[in-house]
Amino acid sequence: MNDAPDAPWRRAAAAAGLLGPDGAPAPTIFAEMTALARRTGALNLGQGFPDEPGPPEVTEAAIRAIRDGVNQYSPGRGEPDLIAAIAEHQRRFHGISLEDPQILVTAGATEALAATLLSQLNPGDEIVVLEPYYDAYVALAALAGAQIVPVELHGPDYRLDLERLRTAVTDRTAVILVNSPHNPTGAVLAPEALDAIIALAHRHDALIVTDEVYEHLTYEAPHVPIAARPGGFERTLSISSAGKVFSVTGWKIGWVSGPAALIEQVMAIKQYLTFVSGAPFQPAVAVGLRLPDAFFEGLRTRYRAKRDLLVGALTEAGFAVSPPAAGYFALADAAPLGLADARTAVRELPGMAGVVAVPLGAFARPEREDLRSIVRFAFCKSDALLEDAAGRLRDLGAQRGSTR
Ligand SMILES: *Cc1c(COP(=O)(O)O)cnc(C)c1O
Repeated sequence: MNDAPDAPWRRAAAAAGLLGPDGAPAPTIFAEMTALARRTGALNLGQGFPDEPGPPEVTEAAIRAIRDGVNQYSPGRGEPDLIAAIAEHQRRFHGISLEDPQILVTAGATEALAATLLSQLNPGDEIVVLEPYYDAYVALAALAGAQIVPVELHGPDYRLDLERLRTAVTDRTAVILVNSPHNPTGAVLAPEALDAIIALAHRHDALIVTDEVYEHLTYEAPHVPIAARPGGFERTLSISSAGKVFSVTGWKIGWVSGPAALIEQVMAIKQYLTFVSGAPFQPAVAVGLRLPDAFFEGLRTRYRAKRDLLVGALTEAGFAVSPPAAGYFALADAAPLGLADARTAVRELPGMAGVVAVPLGAFARPEREDLRSIVRFAFCKSDALLEDAAGRLRDLGAQRGSTR
């Protein structure tokens, strides 16, 4: 038993807010809410995974690959055909030209993040993250022994305040971790914000790591990768994944791209984390990345409609909603419903409205009082489930209207 006060497991769990008062890792809010949904029969809008099948061309290609015997270790950097498809995709959608040694296939975006941060952070380094944040960022930074410097995003629009960012980035900053489109707020960084980040990275000799797994789920304007902005590519490691875009989050095929020398360093860690993974899924993801533009446009249109359905129903229920420009989630303030604490609200919502969500506070430090009453709802669900949830939320609004 490693009970050292500075044990890596303790550092990671504490950074992600998952260390219980007894010093043992506490269950995640997702596990708790998923169990609550199961127990109460409430609709689960807590966890961000799609419940619809991915494109049949893609899933059939994986089945074919297994039948064809693509079941052994793939090459260390990934299947050459997938690497070629990633390069084609980056050129087609973003105008970025990549060569083979500038791309590394990983076990999802999560391993790309792990290998990138473990390769680039030294103990004591500072890493700037936008808060609220995806929980893996702070856990991985803590594993690397780095100091997290949060830049607060505030509602209702969760825009990046460039003055705040300028204060956070110093000569101690090793990595600026960007996530746009942003989980969980659905905010998209404006090109001026991307350029400001690049200027700061140059001024303070920092590396930019960007998580772009929602790059195709933008509902207002197309995604602009920071590596495509002037001066961006040379200091950026860009991370994306097949999970969200092809609705195959269980496949865990991701990739990281950037300057060859940096990819080399990431590779040195990656090969001892998983070595390789998901051999038959790799040719299937290559098929997906080469789908015609109509697929990607259709995805955006379908998800925009899902967003609008949920945002409309949450508003009718009485929440103050921040309509997201991208991603899988809508943030809703429960205070107008008389629920000032989201952690209490999510435990009452199954009884009140038959839906389950998660408190936004799970993605931030406990001192973020401004996020206390905000609840995160996922809309990456089938139309049938969303219609059902929307009906229940509207009923809640109607009940409240009639008792006022
Ligand atoms: C889902 C998600 C990931 C993880 O992606 P995988 O490919 O499943 O590892 C990483 N970052 C963000 C912001 C996500 O929402």
